[in-house]
Amino acid sequence: MADSEDPEVECPHCGSDDVERESQFGSEISKAQYYCNGCNTVFERIKYDGKQPE
Ligand SMILES: [Zn+2]
Repeated sequence: MADSEDPEVECPHCGSDDVERESQFGSEISKAQYYCNGCNTVFERIKYDGKQPE
């Protein structure tokens, strides 16, 4: 269960958390591509580098 998956990724279209990470976008490691098994849609997610505004 301690895989390298992001625990809080959910589909922005249907809200499902049944998503799989696809290959990352080229050299942009701050972006990842996911595939939703709920609505069969690919979406992007920006990965914040641990810096969040309070
Ligand atoms: Zn979905």
